[in-house]
Amino acid sequence: VAHEDQLFPAPSGLDDAQAAMFWVNPATAWQLMHTFEHLQPGDWIVQNAATSAVGKLVIQFAKQLGIHTANLVRDPASGPSLQALGADLVVADNRDAANNLKEALDGRPAQLAFNAVGGSSALTLAKLLENGRTLVTYGGMDREPAPFPTRYLIFNDLRLRGFWVSQWYTQAERSAIESLHETIAALMTSASITTEVEATYTLDDWQDALRHSTKPGKKGKILFLPQTGRAS
Ligand code: NAP
Repeated sequence: VAHEDQLFPAPSGLDDAQAAMFWVNPATAWQLMHTFEHLQPGDWIVQNAATSAVGKLVIQFAKQLGIHTANLVRDPASGPSLQALGADLVVADNRDAANNLKEALDGRPAQLAFNAVGGSSALTLAKLLENGRTLVTYGGMDREPAPFPTRYLIFNDLRLRGFWVSQWYTQAERSAIESLHETIAALMTSASITTEVEATYTLDDWQDALRHSTKPGKKGKILFLPQTGRAS
C-alpha cells in the first residue's frame, strides 16, 4: 500500500517485465550519461561491469546517441553479446586492461567513466580518462576500496563523483521524474532497448531465486512473478 503521490504510471509501450525494472537501471544508466558531462556524438565512455544491467543499458543508449563505449568485463566470452548490443570495444578487466584498452583506443582518451566495481578496476578507468573529465562510481561489486594516486587529481584534474538513483528520486521534482521516464521509455520503445531477463520465479521459490541472482555470468535479471489466485 502506497500513497498515490509516490506512484507513477508504467510507461506505455513497455511490457510488464520492462516496466517493473524501469525505475532503477534504465534511469541510472540515463542519469549517469547526462548528469556529469555534456557528451557529444563521437565521444567515448569507458565502464567496468559492462555485463551488468546498467552497463548494457549504457551501451544501448550510447549507440542511439552516437557515443562510443569501451567496456571492461570479467569474462571475455561475453564480448560478442555486448558487441551485438552496440559495444565498440570489449576488454578483459585484468591487470593489463588499461594498456590493452589504450592500444585499442589508439591513444584516444575517454570523456566519461562509470565504475561499478571498485578496487584496481576503478584505477584502470581513471587511466583512460581525458584530463578534467569525470569518473562516476555507482557500485562497488568487488567491495575493495579504489586507491587513486594523487597525481590523477593534481596533474590530470580528474573529477571523482558518485551517483545513487534512489537519492535522485527523493530530491527530484515529480515533473522531472515524469519527464525522465517519458524520455527513456520513448527511446527504449523506438530502439527496442530492453533489460534482459535471465529467469522468473514465484515468491514460494525465493531461496532458489536469491541463489540464482548471485551466480556469475548471468544474462539478465531475476524477477519474481505475481502468484495469481492466492489470498494474501
Ligand atoms: P547486475 O545486472 O546484477 O550485474 C552484476 C554485475 O556485476 C555483472 O556485470 C557482474 O559480472 C558484476 N560483478 C559481480 N560480482 C563482481 C565482482 N566481485 N567483481 C567484479 N564484477 C562483479 O547488476 P546491476 O543491477 O546492473 O547493478 C550493477 C551495480 O550497480 C551494482 O553494484 C548495483 O548495486 C549498482 N547500482 C547502483 C545504482 C545507483 O543508483 N547507484 C543503480 C543501479 C545499480 P559478471 O557478468 O561477470 O557476473
